[in-house]
Amino acid sequence: MKTITHFCVDIEGAINRLQRSNKKYSEFDDENGNPVPRKAAILNLKYELNKGRKVLPMSKNCVGFDYQTGCPGHERIEDAQAQESIDIRTGKRMSEE
Ligand SMILES: [Zn+2]
Repeated sequence: MKTITHFCVDIEGAINRLQRSNKKYSEFDDENGNPVPRKAAILNLKYELNKGRKVLPMSKNCVGFDYQTGCPGHERIEDAQAQESIDIRTGKRMSEE
């Protein structure tokens, strides 16, 4: 049985990276798909870190996600039920189906 593993965001790593950046916007999108300003993203990530979390899910389909260790891995369903895929370069979901 094949398993798939979703990508996750390392919170501390993302904060460090965003703090070194001088871009206006982060690579994160809000729930409406709009880019989150870099400084707001840093605050949000610090808030998550303060909750004791280490990683954040990049997929809404990640069932059983663990905020310490990330995606638990999922059995791949080979037939019609298509899996979400993520563009590694942008971190964006390529399909909702
Ligand atoms: Zn997952």
